[in-house]
Amino acid sequence: MMTQPPISCEEVIEQLFEYLDKELDDDTNAVIDRHLRHCHDCFSRAEFEKKLRARIAEVGRAKASDRLRQRIEGLIERF
Ligand SMILES: [Zn+2]
Repeated sequence: MMTQPPISCEEVIEQLFEYLDKELDDDTNAVIDRHLRHCHDCFSRAEFEKKLRARIAEVGRAKASDRLRQRIEGLIERF
């Protein structure tokens, strides 16, 4: 196995969104994975972003179901 060059915190943060979206190639992904296991700062940052995204996704779903409910209520009113 090839030894990957170390990656700086700046590089990790720069690619954090792609990393969380799983848009990176396997090699880059592995390098960031390894950095996060050893770097508490970047790990906390990644965890924070992950939670933030989960929260945003939740809010998005709640809004979608709100709209869906309104549409269903609208349909019911027509009968
Ligand atoms: Zn770091």
